[in-house]
Amino acid sequence: MKLPPTLRVIERGWLSSNVVVLHDGVSASVIDSGYVKHREQTVALVAQAAEQRPITHLYNTHCHSDHVGGNAALVRAFGCRVYIPEGEAQSVRDWDLIALDLTPWGQRSERFMFDDTLRSGQTYRLGQIDWQVCAAPGHDMDALIWYAPQEKLLISGDALWEDGFGAVFPELANQAGLACVRATLDWIASLDVQIVIPGHGAPFNHVQAALARAYARLEAFEQAPDKVLRNALRVMLSFHLMDVESATLTQLTQLIERSPWHAASLVLYQQPTHHIAEQLVSDLQRAGVVTLRADRVLCV
Ligand SMILES: [Zn+2]
Repeated sequence: MKLPPTLRVIERGWLSSNVVVLHDGVSASVIDSGYVKHREQTVALVAQAAEQRPITHLYNTHCHSDHVGGNAALVRAFGCRVYIPEGEAQSVRDWDLIALDLTPWGQRSERFMFDDTLRSGQTYRLGQIDWQVCAAPGHDMDALIWYAPQEKLLISGDALWEDGFGAVFPELANQAGLACVRATLDWIASLDVQIVIPGHGAPFNHVQAALARAYARLEAFEQAPDKVLRNALRVMLSFHLMDVESATLTQLTQLIERSPWHAASLVLYQQPTHHIAEQLVSDLQRAGVVTLRADRVLCV
């Protein structure tokens, strides 16, 4: 797989999103900035990938904590201008910890300011490549993805991964999350794409196979909507554990109690919250994501 020479993908894990660095000539642009825990590492990796170029612009695919956590540090280090999807402007301006899905999900971030907003339909030239900014609602209703028709490249954020897509949180907030995931996948399927640079995981080129897996996952959610909530709870717990590294079952129970999905979880599981936490931890243990030591749940 051959990426354009002006584009560098810094592949991270699941706590921090991938970061894309684009060489614009004498300067460089960045898309997404990872989680706050890794911000110093992000600054160092971005500086290295920019190869002496000043970093002048930073764009975010969406404003989840794993994609914007390094924004403030990058601005401090490089003085770059920050662009976010216009749908997130109010929440970021007010630093609304609930609308930004931070406090209720046990997540952290560092407050940042933005200079401008991005809208679907805009075009930008980054890394000497022409990009179209496209709406990609579903995982996040305000998310934007970047498509380069000539290079047949897509920077997909969490709208399409090699194996699936980001948890469909909006479906749990009475928004049409699953319908939007379908519309976004249909839109991506209509594009001529050879390489996808996802928000997490390595860039990939078997796009049709990835779309088939994404559609299969979507159908599983559509047929059994309870799976959306179970998946969201597992994602919330495992993400929090990646951040704090270990927690007691009591702390995880409190995390579920503080989450926006507590009432729905009680209805779905028909058990007290600490039993729900136990069940989710054993799901994550079976998946090899966590392990138990004494009274603590540890991230593997
Ligand atoms: Zn993400």
